Amino acid sequence: MKQYNHFIGGEYKPSVNGGTMDIINPATGKKYATLASGDEADVKLAFQAAKDAAEGWTKTPLAKRQAIMQRIATIIEEKVDFLAEAEMLDSGKPISHAKGLEIPRAAANFAFFAAAASQLSSESHYMPGEAISYTLRQPYGVVGCISPWNLPLYLFTWKIAPAIAAGNTVVAKPSELTPVTATLLGEICNEAGLPVGVLNIVHGTGPDVGEAIVRHEEIKVISFTGSTAVGKRIAGICAEQLKKASLELGGKNAVIIFGDSDYDDALKTTVRSSFSNQGQICLCGSRIFVQWDIYDRFVSDFAERVQKLKMGDPSDPETKMGAMISEGHMKKVLSYIELAKQEGGEVIVGGNQVHLPAPNDGGYFIEPTIITGLDQNCRTNQEEIFGPVVTIMPFQTEEEAVTLANQTPYGLASVVWSDRLDRAHRVAGQLHAGIVWVNCWLLRDLRTPFGGVKQSGMGREGGWEAIRFFTEPKNVTIKYDH
Ligand code: NAD
Repeated sequence: MKQYNHFIGGEYKPSVNGGTMDIINPATGKKYATLASGDEADVKLAFQAAKDAAEGWTKTPLAKRQAIMQRIATIIEEKVDFLAEAEMLDSGKPISHAKGLEIPRAAANFAFFAAAASQLSSESHYMPGEAISYTLRQPYGVVGCISPWNLPLYLFTWKIAPAIAAGNTVVAKPSELTPVTATLLGEICNEAGLPVGVLNIVHGTGPDVGEAIVRHEEIKVISFTGSTAVGKRIAGICAEQLKKASLELGGKNAVIIFGDSDYDDALKTTVRSSFSNQGQICLCGSRIFVQWDIYDRFVSDFAERVQKLKMGDPSDPETKMGAMISEGHMKKVLSYIELAKQEGGEVIVGGNQVHLPAPNDGGYFIEPTIITGLDQNCRTNQEEIFGPVVTIMPFQTEEEAVTLANQTPYGLASVVWSDRLDRAHRVAGQLHAGIVWVNCWLLRDLRTPFGGVKQSGMGREGGWEAIRFFTEPKNVTIKYDH
């Protein structure tokens, strides 16, 4: 059985303590590979490799850095089938999702930030007759990147690409549930000519490896994507050490559908925004608010469409619904469906675990689930479920829709469906969210800021925000006469 190891100083290495853990295919429930499971000792080795590489990488001319990053993007594109298959086995997601969306976006991250690095200009300020000040944006040296399991290679590269484009070297940890494509990225970086030590990957659990990265006194910057609970813990450690952190956390996103919207487009897209990747995208809408005049019709049409979503073996190109990431997560999602019933909700579609035939008989599948009749303030509508479960609630007025949408501790993304221009602007401005889509979902321009408000995070990634995050501004003032 294959073992995936740490990638340190350009080489694959087992854990210092010899530790390993199982890698499970969620669509079969079976172990298919082994993962090196490290701790602080491996993080120290990775840090040293990154530190040794830092000076050389910082001094590498921008054009050369860009060429290497562009080459990484090209190799990812060339290997899209191989990487998509690996992502599917690791995560249980449909092959169409991995191949059509996630792996291409991982390539795009490298291509985009390679280009962006050369567009960053520094400000200068002239004090007439006295002096000129300018701002250098310098890399930090070694930075730490920690990513989750839901969009494995895409979110891993979303951090690494801007970090290295800005001239840093990296100690990174992918989720222990989905470590394979990140590990394969190591080979790709070697093939592209990335100097050894610029990217180092340490595998293992969050407390053993993630926390060792966060606590490392010489790793001065942490970019984290994951749950709000872990994000808060990391924020606490970073506060003690006065360490810079970007935290991209959970969500409980609202979709507001007004009676004046393009009904068919809203219906079709809301199926996608609810159940893509089995609802395991931080940007999925989970609370759907529909205006009274179209409420009954929408619920009935939505239910009909959702029942037609094809669940099955993730390797089937026609499959739209794959497996949940783990048995534990499946049980958590099912427990929320039970909670919803206790809270007075009616499960109008789905609600159950699905037992598929072999080879998927041990897999973690849940029916796409729609719940109506719940109050906005119940736990089902307040806590992140992160699965194929949505609630639908009616509203009367625009004001009411905004109030209901904002009644949650989270504030990552929202979607508004309306054909009225004044309404779209007004509502977008009032929603407590870092990202608002109007009449679309998941349409992403990599130049735009990405992140959430309230319990959904701190700081922004994407575009200039990412390059700025990974560089330290330094003001230099030069006096004319002295
Ligand atoms: P998680 O917080 O459990 O784990 C995320 C990563 O942090 C993993 O690599 C994990 O090993 C590591 N980790 C765990 N404990 C740690 C610790 N004490 N110190 C350092 N690292 C630690 O999250 P998850 O279950 O992997 O991912 C799902 C969550 O991620 C959901 O809440 C989802 O909304 C969120 N998410 C947010 C975004 C966003 O951009 N806002 C994107 C994707 C996922």
